[in-house]
Amino acid sequence: MQHILHPARLLLGTSNQTLHRMMRAVCVDEPGGPETLLLRCVPRPRPKGGEVLIKVHATALNRADLLQRRGLYPPPPGESDVLGLEVAGTVDAVGPGVTGGWRPADRVMALLSGGGYAEYVSVPEELLMAVPNNLTLCQAAAIPEAWLTAFQLLELVAQVKQGEVVLTHAGASGVGTAAIQLVRLFGAVPIVTAGSAEKLQMAESLGAAAGFNYREESFSRGVQAFTGGKGADVILDCVGGCNWEQNVSSLSTDGRWVLYGTMGGRGVEGDMLGRLLAKRGRLLCSLLRSRSLQYKADLVKAFSHRVLPSFSEQPAALRPVIDSTFNLEDIAEAHRHMEANKNMGKIIINVIP
Ligand code: NAP
Repeated sequence: MQHILHPARLLLGTSNQTLHRMMRAVCVDEPGGPETLLLRCVPRPRPKGGEVLIKVHATALNRADLLQRRGLYPPPPGESDVLGLEVAGTVDAVGPGVTGGWRPADRVMALLSGGGYAEYVSVPEELLMAVPNNLTLCQAAAIPEAWLTAFQLLELVAQVKQGEVVLTHAGASGVGTAAIQLVRLFGAVPIVTAGSAEKLQMAESLGAAAGFNYREESFSRGVQAFTGGKGADVILDCVGGCNWEQNVSSLSTDGRWVLYGTMGGRGVEGDMLGRLLAKRGRLLCSLLRSRSLQYKADLVKAFSHRVLPSFSEQPAALRPVIDSTFNLEDIAEAHRHMEANKNMGKIIINVIP
């Protein structure tokens, strides 16, 4: 990290009262590489009507954070420009009009539109979830963004049915590790692509029925062989451009191709539309962050009802997959780790070490 501004130094000469209203947070002034991440002292948010103030124990990285840092994915209008899309911690204070029964010290995790790389964040109460008793707050920080995204894509966008084959690219990513487990939970068959044997092994340990190393083989041939020539019913695709031909080849007739990222490029050249039409394929695109509060609230409610209890079963049917843990001071290192595609599962940031 380029600059670490220590609160004590920054606030020399300020009163104790002011100090108590401040917090450490990671900000970006100039878009760029990991060295542009700044640990700063900024005013602590106050819960507005319907919001709950969370004392953050841990947050987690998402690919979107790297884009935001580079200036390529600005926060939605009116949202915090502090990075971070998810946290786990304890309730610190409750704003006026909160009706959900949240109390100080409750263990919670939350989906955010921003503001997670900080000691405190204020969140609409509808986006809070109780942390399952058997999970630590670090484990819980790995859940909101990746699991709600995977759940949304499978349940609301693709509407996956029992017995269907679901091909997930980046099978060892945060979203991928959640998607594999959810596909199994929904009685469908997960298969994946990933860029190394180690990542494929991890995906298989989570329940993937087959995996293809896209660096070494044609995944579309692998999918055709696995499905006896029928193709995958659903593709969860965060790669986009460079994969389009193999995606169309891998898709079954009437299949659903769900695009939710473009890590492999945004442009396509060739007869994509013609080939998709010939298969009566459906291309469905989805982003979570820009959705309305009501949409996210409904998603959190459905996830809490349908999926969250499975984290507490004995033995647990679902588990958050954690790759590594960094302290907030080492946020730049954590970004480098993700940018190098090294993580398998989530990268957690300890805000309170
Ligand atoms: P992550 O844990 O950082 O994993 C990303 C993995 O993708 C990398 O480790 C790498 O694994 C693979 N990858 C990177 N570039 C690639 C390329 N050009 N071709 C093929 N594979 C590539 O990521 P995440 O935070 O889970 O996010 C995964 C994706 O979901 C991102 O694209 C993110 O933007 C997207 N996302 C979208 C939404 C939404 O609402 N639309 C929400 C959350 C996340 P390999 O070594 O296997 O290549």
